[in-house]
Amino acid sequence: MKRIFLIMIAFGVCFFEIPVDAYEKSLKNVKVVIDAGHGGFDNGAIEYGYYEDNINLEIALKMKDELEKSGAKVYLTRDGDYDMTKRNHHYSKQDDMYLRVKKIDSYKCDYLLSIHQNASGNRSAWGSQVFYYYRSKQGKALAFDIDQSLKQLTNSRKPISGCGFRVLRATKTLGVLIECGFLSNYNECGQLRSKNYQKKLCQKVKEGLIKYHLRIMTQKKKKTAKILQ
Ligand SMILES: [Zn+2]
Repeated sequence: MKRIFLIMIAFGVCFFEIPVDAYEKSLKNVKVVIDAGHGGFDNGAIEYGYYEDNINLEIALKMKDELEKSGAKVYLTRDGDYDMTKRNHHYSKQDDMYLRVKKIDSYKCDYLLSIHQNASGNRSAWGSQVFYYYRSKQGKALAFDIDQSLKQLTNSRKPISGCGFRVLRATKTLGVLIECGFLSNYNECGQLRSKNYQKKLCQKVKEGLIKYHLRIMTQKKKKTAKILQ
């Protein structure tokens, strides 16, 4: 009896130690492109000596790991501190965006996540915010799911927002732009730099993406079933 009990405990421990992702490959066959905003000569926001482009990249790399754990195939617009032109002092924002958009669509992904950090002259402003291209219904639905999940961590009161940002407007890939928080807010800047917080942030974004993806897959299956009837 004691032996059976021990075997049961051992089995239980093994069972619970397997990470959920190991057998829940919810994003299998899903392709995601992650765009770490800015880079190279374009630092984005600079607050308290910290550069937005560096934090964007740190989060983008963690996001890649997180999504891959769930079976996604992940691409990055950049994996280092450079802009898309790689022309250094001949940098042009317009050319960078043109090439960024081209690169994003060249991967022919199902989803695009553009990662940014916000900043404001009002140092008390704080909170994550998810943006979608204002003419995209799917973009709005995706933003909603990601935002709902992300807010469980950030407690942000900012609503999702339709926008005309070029990275969403000019790309064919369904995507959202995530402002993870305000670097200009001293407390939030500290959180956004924390490796642990960055990881949690990526997990929450992934949960939202999975929720959206599974819903769309279910809808597609139902449609197919109707056609076959
Ligand atoms: Zn930015």
